[in-house]
Amino acid sequence: MSVSLTGRALVAGVVGHPIAHSLSPRLHNAWIAAAGLDAVYVPFGPGETGFTRLAEGFRGGAIRGLNVTLPFKEEALALADRADAAAEAAQAANLLLFHPDGSIEARNTDGLGLLGAFAEQAPGADLASGPVVLLGAGGAARGAAAALKAAGVPDLRIVNRSVDRALALAEAFGGRAYSLGQAAQVFDGAVAIINSTSAGLGDSPPVQWPLEAAPRTAAVMDMVYKPLITPLLDFARNRGMPVVDGLAMLIGQARPSFEAFYGCPPPAGVDARALLLEAMG
Ligand code: NDP
Repeated sequence: MSVSLTGRALVAGVVGHPIAHSLSPRLHNAWIAAAGLDAVYVPFGPGETGFTRLAEGFRGGAIRGLNVTLPFKEEALALADRADAAAEAAQAANLLLFHPDGSIEARNTDGLGLLGAFAEQAPGADLASGPVVLLGAGGAARGAAAALKAAGVPDLRIVNRSVDRALALAEAFGGRAYSLGQAAQVFDGAVAIINSTSAGLGDSPPVQWPLEAAPRTAAVMDMVYKPLITPLLDFARNRGMPVVDGLAMLIGQARPSFEAFYGCPPPAGVDARALLLEAMG
């Protein structure tokens, strides 16, 4: 269904660098069309250094808001006038709202996306019932750690190549830090294992995670969604472990963003997953 825009159209978008690969415009505009809204969702690519100037230009509510992706999530929090607890905890924002009084509000919906992905694809995984292993200690791990602690994870085990970053995260959220070499010991008894590293992407070498040391009942999630079934998920699936993919998290973080922009939840009837899989080819 196509929607014709009027002078009252609600505008929102996504900003990142690079931005051309973003799946968010495809998803939000499909929801807009299905809901019959007078609205549009636009990608913004301000280059490496143009984020703050772009976002400051929207003060006063020229647009409703922006989703923020790499590498601007920390900068987004820094320029906001106020932030929700999730953004404060993650020290990063993936959502900015521009209010008519000129203020900018920062939120972080990545944690909701993560928990929603588990609820959808591994409903049997009770994250509050035992150790959860978080692989990585970058920006995405920070948001995940905050959400996992809020969800009642009793033993958060953070494994990272740079142990000092794992230690900092463990200190901030009440977890324990480990080196890559300790992964097998850390997987023992885990109820869930979540990969938030970018290892294996681009020029970065892959890590052979010793998943065989984990219980077969442990749910395995990979935040990476290109490819959808990563080597980690492939190994887990072949071992009969429940798997959760990064696309479910991407869709899960987009839902509350849509509602914040346009004032209604995404309409039922759009198969977001099929739509994005098609867009990914
Ligand atoms: P960061 O750059 O902040 O962190 C990268 C992490 O990966 C660090 O912990 C880094 O370790 C680790 N790492 C990188 N290369 C290697 C390697 N060769 N071996 C071991 N560890 C390595 O990135 P983000 O946290 O922002 O994002 C991480 C991933 O999560 C990305 O692929 C991103 O696309 C994905 N993501 C997916 C989302 C979704 O909705 N599905 C949402 C957010 C992120 P070190 O500290 O030692 O450098």
